[in-house]
Amino acid sequence: MTSIETFRSTSKDKLRDVLTRLEKEGAALGHFNVADHVLLKAVIAAAADTKLPVLVGASEGEREFFGARQLAALLKSERQESDLPIFLNADHTHSLAKALEAAKAGFDAVTIDFSALPFEENVARTKETVEAIKAVNPAILAEGEIGDIGTGSEIKETAQGGKLSTPEEARQFVEATGIDNLAPAVGNMHGMLKSMVQGKAKKHLDLERIAQIKHAAGVFLTLHGGSGTDDEHFRKAITAGINIIHINTELRVAWRESLDKSLAQDLNEVVPYKILRPVVDSVKQVVSSRLRLFHGQTVSPEAVETVA
Ligand SMILES: [Zn+2]
Repeated sequence: MTSIETFRSTSKDKLRDVLTRLEKEGAALGHFNVADHVLLKAVIAAAADTKLPVLVGASEGEREFFGARQLAALLKSERQESDLPIFLNADHTHSLAKALEAAKAGFDAVTIDFSALPFEENVARTKETVEAIKAVNPAILAEGEIGDIGTGSEIKETAQGGKLSTPEEARQFVEATGIDNLAPAVGNMHGMLKSMVQGKAKKHLDLERIAQIKHAAGVFLTLHGGSGTDDEHFRKAITAGINIIHINTELRVAWRESLDKSLAQDLNEVVPYKILRPVVDSVKQVVSSRLRLFHGQTVSPEAVETVA
């Protein structure tokens, strides 16, 4: 199957089928967090531009600000109108109640995160949550997390996490919980260091560990904390078995910088859509370039067809 197939994705596609197809194509699904309508508009505009599937994410904090049901309703409306394969994930969900709320609201996937608990407790709470959300929607994608990659998609002074997940704990966790995809610690970290925001440093992943975990776990793998990762490592991580890549801090940095710039441009400007339009465009650029990278796109689809 060629990457051209991806361009035929529509809103009728199921998330699981999209992931299976992308894996065959050597591509990964981009996951982009949104906290408000400006960010959502940017992600959807990037999906429309690139004609690639996207996974819109909202953590508990982002859902609280946006409204879980309101975000799900907006996404459904966008999907119907655009016919684009746009999916919705309840990112970093730390309780059964919040996972159920997202499942009932119509989210396509839930990132169940009890990774701060001891392993056995993480297994028990994750398993319970997987069963509960699948009772609401059998097609929902349940993700589980192991290891420590720090918390908060913010600008940080020092690196967090560090201890890598092992293939054995990955295998045990998947078998015991029934999750559909696993988020391991493989050199990734939530947030970005100042040097990464300035482009002076990049995150590097343990590619061999990713391949070992993929082999042992046998499920879809999600890379959290992707912001600031070296481009070449992203490509190799996809080859090693990563299926979903989370980008949040890069979007937040673009949002903040472009908002500052837009506000400073005319101190008398008070029309929100005039101030916010350049912000949507800036965030859209980040999303589009990450999406293209995750799909190994260096040439336009027309050029691929010509070469073929
Ligand atoms: Zn995350």
